[in-house]
Amino acid sequence: MNVHDSERMAGMLEAAGYVPSTGELADVVVFNTCAVRENADNKLYGNLGILAPVKAANPGMQIAVGGCLAQKDRETILKKAPWVDAVFGTHNVGALPALLDRARHNNEAQLEILESLDVFPSTLPTKRDSVYSGWVSISVGCNNTCTFCIVPALRGKEKDRRPGEILAEIQALVDDGAIEVTLLGQNVNSYGVEFGDRQAFSKLLRACGEIPGLERVRFTSPHPAAFTDDVIDAMAETPNVMPQLHMPLQSGSDKVLKDMKRSYRSAKFLGILDKVREKIPHAAISTDIIVGFPGETEEDFQATLDVVEKSRFATAFTFQYSKRPGTPAADLPDQLPKAVVQERFERLTALQDRIAAEENARQLGRRVEVMVTAQSGRKAEETHRLSGRSQDQRLVHFSVPEGADVPRPGDLVTVTITEAAAFHLVADPASAADYSLRRSRAGDAWDRSQADSCGAGPTSPAGKTGASGKAGVSLGMPSLPVRGR
Ligand code: SF4
Repeated sequence: MNVHDSERMAGMLEAAGYVPSTGELADVVVFNTCAVRENADNKLYGNLGILAPVKAANPGMQIAVGGCLAQKDRETILKKAPWVDAVFGTHNVGALPALLDRARHNNEAQLEILESLDVFPSTLPTKRDSVYSGWVSISVGCNNTCTFCIVPALRGKEKDRRPGEILAEIQALVDDGAIEVTLLGQNVNSYGVEFGDRQAFSKLLRACGEIPGLERVRFTSPHPAAFTDDVIDAMAETPNVMPQLHMPLQSGSDKVLKDMKRSYRSAKFLGILDKVREKIPHAAISTDIIVGFPGETEEDFQATLDVVEKSRFATAFTFQYSKRPGTPAADLPDQLPKAVVQERFERLTALQDRIAAEENARQLGRRVEVMVTAQSGRKAEETHRLSGRSQDQRLVHFSVPEGADVPRPGDLVTVTITEAAAFHLVADPASAADYSLRRSRAGDAWDRSQADSCGAGPTSPAGKTGASGKAGVSLGMPSLPVRGR
């Protein structure tokens, strides 16, 4: 959600005439903040401290702070960092350019926080990070009251966007070349509650299946309590909805779930996974888990380990409980000592890492279709592999056989998995016959975006690889003619 908000902030600034900074020093720095964990607070004030002398040495430079932490801390930000020029919240992202103008004109810091949303943020201009894949908000805010969570306080009650508007935005993205969308909401399967249609989310998934050219549909995040069978049927019966589900567990202990005010129990969670796997046998399921919630006993923690063992998650985002002032859980007795939380966290991650490695090992020998991404793995320099995501969202590093056509970001390759680790898969085709490339509209859009951003013509179509296998992925750099032949 925050990443998508950042895309909106960038889009509005570009619409107001700002351009991305290419040098070391920017005229405007905007922080889009998160307040979900304590570390985010510390990071913001640390970064503002680093910028103070930079701003002092560069009069005219402006600093803005927006997002959840701004919504929470408000004037505290200006007290702690009086060199900040503008502070805006989660409900008025659209005010950013005006606040910067006003701060400059009045030579005075501007603080503007709204208590609720007046414009659904997706109606704002957006500068998307990726041409082949886009986020699409279907709702903002949340009507739940999980006791550890600051989101309802900072993003307000759930507001649903009308299906026609959502589909029009998806169509516009597809027209621009995207072949993948991720539907975004704090709680996607309560979508429709505002306009009285309890099956609105499954209908939306099926409607996405009708959009020609849209190849991959994902969503995040559903809430187990609101997960209904019509959504599972829609996932299974809509070919472009990907075989992947991210569903937060948070705890495997029913007592802790009750204390968290999460209104499902572990049996219901496991039941949903069984139904999903019955209808979509290869679905990769991922989750979020909090360790060390106040009052969590060793027995409770063991219940989490048991559910993790049974769930066979492809991946899990694991967090140590972080006390957020303003949430009910922050005032609960029995806050656990750090050492206990750390030790449990390590046991949980060791278990999940083992399961992830085992689940990935089951992929060995499978043919998978990978959508190539612009980002390569950390070792890409030495391995000469490109990277992408399989249909079930697994990270795949693959090599292009000697002489074969090189894909662009957004293109699709089909390869056989030859190696598996806990966090990624590798496909090194033995020959060109074991590798196929499907050039896509998204790859064409990538070429166009690179040409627009650097002023050069499109990158060469289907460059051939040399021994390095590395040649054809455009980094947007204009190339120099080869001399001295
Ligand atoms: S469902 Fe719970 S954890 Fe998720 S945003 Fe709503 S209150 Fe927070």
